[in-house]
Amino acid sequence: MPLTIAHDTLLCERTTLRLGGPALAEAVVSCAAGLDELARVLPGLGGLPGLGGQALALGAGSNILAADGPHALVLVRAANNAAPQISTQADGVTPGAFIVRAGAGLRLPRLLGFCQRAGLSGLEGLTGVPGRIGGSVAMNAGSYGVELGALLTRVRLWTPEGGLIWRAAQDCAFGYRHFDPRMGGGFWMVWEAEFALNADQPFAIRKRMETVYARKKASQPVTARSAGCVFKNPEGLAPGTSAGRLLDEAGLRGKRLGGMAFSTVHANFLVNKGGGTAAQALELLEYGRATVFDRFNLNLETEVVVLG
Ligand SMILES: Cc1cc2nc3c(=O)[nH]c(=O)nc-3n(C[C@H](O)[C@H](O)[C@H](O)COP(=O)(O)OP(=O)(O)OC[C@H]3O[C@@H](n4cnc5c(N)ncnc54)[C@H](O)[C@@H]3O)c2cc1C
Repeated sequence: MPLTIAHDTLLCERTTLRLGGPALAEAVVSCAAGLDELARVLPGLGGLPGLGGQALALGAGSNILAADGPHALVLVRAANNAAPQISTQADGVTPGAFIVRAGAGLRLPRLLGFCQRAGLSGLEGLTGVPGRIGGSVAMNAGSYGVELGALLTRVRLWTPEGGLIWRAAQDCAFGYRHFDPRMGGGFWMVWEAEFALNADQPFAIRKRMETVYARKKASQPVTARSAGCVFKNPEGLAPGTSAGRLLDEAGLRGKRLGGMAFSTVHANFLVNKGGGTAAQALELLEYGRATVFDRFNLNLETEVVVLG
């Protein structure tokens, strides 16, 4: 089915924090034909009555904190998750000589595994990031010195009004966990992305991935219900300082409210210990922000996407 629509989808079933009330509907699109159908039912468009509410693109939900109550949203999920495709740039030897194209619905760990086996290097630092390609491009996911935006050559975007278009990376803006395709206002969704990677030995790539994962496993609650880091690292901090360290020094590590807590492993990870609510999560978030401000006169900016 190119497009399937379900009603009253629970965000707690679509987010890694396992929090969030019902959205009006969820539209899952598996191929380009489904996008044409989608354009007819999205809020405020086309001849059909429409689904109401506002559209929100959703990937793996691994960077989202959704409020407990109902959401006037139509969740749009790209399910184009076929195996990536590899092509070669003109001379085949310059840095970034290989281009890998992946669908927005593909999980980032699957892309990393594919590239490792194919002997394509560049993404290893992102080992352990659980998002899908669309969400990871939209967040400009980054880890261990690698930012997805720096490897992106072009991105295929979909808008209900204009359909699919390719946009060169140099025409987009990238920042710290920020991506803006400069499309003006309105709904847009990442549909496909291309990355420039280099050739290397599969065993060498695997070793780097294992090193990154081992370091993360030692310092992050990788198997807990979380959304990764909840605060951005403030700009201009001394080397080695981070939002996690500030939270830690302010005494937030392990701080618990109901079922939610700042992790004992990494203070910048908010974890759902079971039975947590978004209300508790948001209260803890604000408590952490206020405590760090009182202690260091620094305002922590939220990294996790909060759906109110
Ligand atoms: C254990 C753990 C570790 C993590 N480690 C890292 C890390 O090291 N570095 C890092 O950067 N992040 C990390 N994260 C956060 C998260 O995995 C990344 O931000 C991820 O790239 C988000 O992808 P997603 O598919 O889950 O996006 P979602 O959480 O589903 O969405 C995030 C945002 O992207 C938008 N979006 C989603 N899909 C699309 C689309 N197709 N088109 C347009 N917009 C879209 C959503 O509307 C939302 O605004 C971690 C999370 C967890 C749980």
